[in-house]
Amino acid sequence: TAKSQPSAEQFAEGVAAGDRAMLARTITLIESTKAEHQALAQRVLQLLLPRTGGAVRLGITGVPGVGKSTTIDQLGMNLVNSGLKVAVLAVDPTSRRTGGSILGDKTRMSQLAQSSQAFIRPSPSSGTLGGVTRKTRETMAVVEAAGFDVVIVETVGVGQSETAVADMVDFFLVLLLAGGGDDLQGIKKGIIEIADMIAINKADGDNVLRAKNAAAEYRNALHILAPQSTTWSPPVLTISGATNNGLDELWDKIKQHRELTTASGEFAERRRHQAVGWMRDMLEARLMGALHSNAKVAAELPQIEADVRNGQLLPTLAVDRIMALMGMS
Ligand code: GDP
Repeated sequence: TAKSQPSAEQFAEGVAAGDRAMLARTITLIESTKAEHQALAQRVLQLLLPRTGGAVRLGITGVPGVGKSTTIDQLGMNLVNSGLKVAVLAVDPTSRRTGGSILGDKTRMSQLAQSSQAFIRPSPSSGTLGGVTRKTRETMAVVEAAGFDVVIVETVGVGQSETAVADMVDFFLVLLLAGGGDDLQGIKKGIIEIADMIAINKADGDNVLRAKNAAAEYRNALHILAPQSTTWSPPVLTISGATNNGLDELWDKIKQHRELTTASGEFAERRRHQAVGWMRDMLEARLMGALHSNAKVAAELPQIEADVRNGQLLPTLAVDRIMALMGMS
């Protein structure tokens, strides 16, 4: 606290100028749970708003070991080498367990971590999925304002985190591996339904044929599902993050998707829909915040919960009482 806090304008100017230290400090501000930091962060975001929205927002998911870090490192370097600035953010609500994010670990994206044209930010190290995703959305806005052309949001295949990430990006990529024979067994159907593309990774060496066979199976599986879009049917590629095979084609598909859905209006509609989703999440977070910081609720909640536990108070009536304490009945 010795260092005086910059003003909202100073934060915003620093970010807009591409100052990496200010960018990192702004994200730290966003991640802070202190009320005064939150208020300042919202002012900074408001100032940066006109500069946001310009990046390609790419979500990538897959189970641990599928090759996310390797693929993002290589794809990111391809993009950097083509003149683009790349930011990598992680959504990992499980990172609490290790006290730090495994996903954002810079040592796992060693090439990108050394590039001046790249920015890697681990997942906020604690919080609910809702909190982590809200902060990631806000961080995405900030890196866009800082001039990054591509924002990659990485998540592990855990719980609801995939849907949360799919809801904040323009394109959702699912990485899979060719399994031992029964390829469709291990995959969650819900994931396939939200994928804009599937890439079978580690298609190198002895594994190429197996990967191609797996890709054919997934293509068939996708045919059975009702298409999400009239202009886009999710392709299934085979790639190797390790050898860079197929990554140019992968990026071409993402660009093609952008062109087609922009022309059809789906791109703009997806972003509008996401803006409303973002608002709803924030509203929910604010309401929960108001609930948890309400002194009257805090004073009476233990007794109310005890009464519910003893069967002396119905849960519905308990909720009525809490709402009344909040002045919301
Ligand atoms: P993550 O947990 O999804 O981030 O996966 P990693 O990128 O850390 O990769 C897990 C392991 O698979 C590591 O040992 C990588 O070297 C290896 N790996 C990643 N991508 C490939 C690939 O394309 N081909 C091969 N053969 N191995 C890979």
